[in-house]
Amino acid sequence: MKCMICKHGETKVGSTTITLEKEGSTIVFKEVPAQVCDNCGETYIDDAITKKLLQKAREIIKSGVEVDIRKYEKVA
Ligand SMILES: [Zn+2]
Repeated sequence: MKCMICKHGETKVGSTTITLEKEGSTIVFKEVPAQVCDNCGETYIDDAITKKLLQKAREIIKSGVEVDIRKYEKVA
């Protein structure tokens, strides 16, 4: 699809790192599947994936962890 930010680039399948900060905890998900703009580097993540990450982050925070870094494939 066309990039909505720069309006010039085309997005391509790639991956990105997502950092979620909530209630004093920092959760990092690596290698999250995303569409990446080949011009400006903006990333677009599927709603279903975002939901999954937020849900997982909530579970991690509940367990009392302050900093957690994991790969997306181990979450899904
Ligand atoms: Zn762009």
